[in-house]
Amino acid sequence: MIKQAVILAAGLGSRLGELTKNMPKGFLQIDGVAIVENSIKKLISVGVEEIIIGTGYKAEFYENLANKYNCIKTVYNKDYEKTSSMVTLNVCKQFINNDFLLLESDLIYDKIGLFVLINDERSNVILSSGKTYSGDEVYLSVNNNFELVSVSKDKTKIQNPFAELVGISKITKNTLNEMCNFYEKFADIKIDYENVLEQISRQNLADIFVRKIEYYAWSEIDNETMLQTAINEIYPRIKENESLLNVRREILLNPGPATTTDSVKYAQVIADICPREREFGDLVKWCTDELTNFVADNNKYTCIMFACSGTGVDEAMISSCVNTNANQKLLVIDNGAYGARLANIAKNFNMNFDVIKSSSYEALDINVLENAFKTGKYNALAIVYHETTTGLLNPLEIICPLAKKYGLITIVDAISAYAGMPMDLEKLQIDFMSATSNKHIGAMAGIGFVIAKKSALETIKNYQRKNYYFDLYEQYKYFVDNNYQLRFTPPVQSFYALRQAILETKIETIQKRFERMQKCHQILLSALENLALECLVKKENQSGFITAILPPKSNKYSFENLHEVAKNNGFTIYPGKLGNIDTFRIANMGDIKPSEMQKFTLILEKYINSLN
Ligand code: PLP
Ligand code: MG
Ligand code: MG
Repeated sequence: MIKQAVILAAGLGSRLGELTKNMPKGFLQIDGVAIVENSIKKLISVGVEEIIIGTGYKAEFYENLANKYNCIKTVYNKDYEKTSSMVTLNVCKQFINNDFLLLESDLIYDKIGLFVLINDERSNVILSSGKTYSGDEVYLSVNNNFELVSVSKDKTKIQNPFAELVGISKITKNTLNEMCNFYEKFADIKIDYENVLEQISRQNLADIFVRKIEYYAWSEIDNETMLQTAINEIYPRIKENESLLNVRREILLNPGPATTTDSVKYAQVIADICPREREFGDLVKWCTDELTNFVADNNKYTCIMFACSGTGVDEAMISSCVNTNANQKLLVIDNGAYGARLANIAKNFNMNFDVIKSSSYEALDINVLENAFKTGKYNALAIVYHETTTGLLNPLEIICPLAKKYGLITIVDAISAYAGMPMDLEKLQIDFMSATSNKHIGAMAGIGFVIAKKSALETIKNYQRKNYYFDLYEQYKYFVDNNYQLRFTPPVQSFYALRQAILETKIETIQKRFERMQKCHQILLSALENLALECLVKKENQSGFITAILPPKSNKYSFENLHEVAKNNGFTIYPGKLGNIDTFRIANMGDIKPSEMQKFTLILEKYINSLN
């Protein structure tokens, strides 16, 4: 797995004259986006975690870009005016810790090239193409084994060139070390990285292969002619090629599994791997750390994973965190279908528990809860953070600290809240919290996890075991003691999708995701107001992640018809029946844009107006 990329972006771009007088050439725009930003988006979409940009000329442009993408790290080559690309790479070396992709900053390219390099079984691979007639070709020749023999712009030096250098390569850390050693001995500050690769290959210091894609769509942009060709000929080809791989978009307005990005879908297309391999353990460990990081300090909290749905992980949490043998008693808050489910789990395990039942569309009465805590009868509280049934958000910032004040363990189902809103488990005083891969985090269904306070986890260590697979402590212990392997077969490919979804969440940030969801919610609310449709839950108690809507009074209305109209336009909506109250539900979760919610409201409007 390639986790890092380096973009060499120190150059003056002097051949572009006026165009690069005030900015580096990576910031030339095509289709309204800087070419380097386009490249960054492609790297992220193939799972690159960190992008190191070697800067020089007008470095501040890249530093600003790093503020927008928290996966970017800039490294400054102070001698950029006098030096060449190898010097910039040498400056970046200290931050490179494994195999990486090396790119030039002035490229536009079809993303398939990254996929080809990542999947090539050889470790050092230079991407190359057939003839471009660009006027600044760098020719490559190879031996019978497709190993690099020579690199030159001078065609007289390379009689029968095999291919042209693109400016994207896959390189190992060892090869990088060889390259830097060579450069330091050679001490030519004008040498380019590709010429160093040539020397390394010739001297057999590493095996450097050349991979050719004959009709590859790409261009570098060194001068104005290249820019025009890039805009008029190459970019449209790239765009078309890439669009051919778009997955048909279905916008799920049901409350999870949520709409995923194409990059999350494609992250599952990977080489087969045995989940007992170290590499897979590292991947799972990384996921647990990052998922914890979103809501808590990794030193104090940890994440325990299971292959299961949300209910599965709720079952693990409820059954493992209360010691019924020691006569511990659980208090469950039921103000919706999911609170009721927590109570059902307790019932099925013959646990000692009471339920406080409350309306599923009105705010909880905190006094009732406090009076129950005060009785001293309870050792633990189980509550749903966001009742997905109706969109009611329970005020855990009040409830959990109150429960702790009376000595209760706090167990929270945050399945439809986690990663959709900023939360701090320590501040909220939550001991155990459940979530899944397929809601706000935006990955595939199949992974449930508990984020637990480590000290609370230690207290359950000797509790009577109630089940085998879903034993929270056993799962935790096994993971820690066995190089981060899961006890039982994990959904391997779903973990790769989860990794990609985490990367994308880190880049967007949970705060910004929350804002995006609220924007979608506001668009929906104002459309409902215009259509005189009412929400079941008062605005101040709504999460903004799901809206339960009372149907129009017209007897021509049917949920099935509305569902069909929406589905024909690429939107999936969800019914919702609460006792005898009928509703339909619109969720905003996952990869949904405000413009898409806008589009949905127009469809809704058209349907509602057709009822008159
Ligand atoms: N808890 C909450 C709050 C949920 O929203 C859901 C699913 O929507 C679940 C539990 C159950 O999850 P699953 O259907 O994955 O078992
Ligand atoms: Mg060039
Ligand atoms: Mg160039």
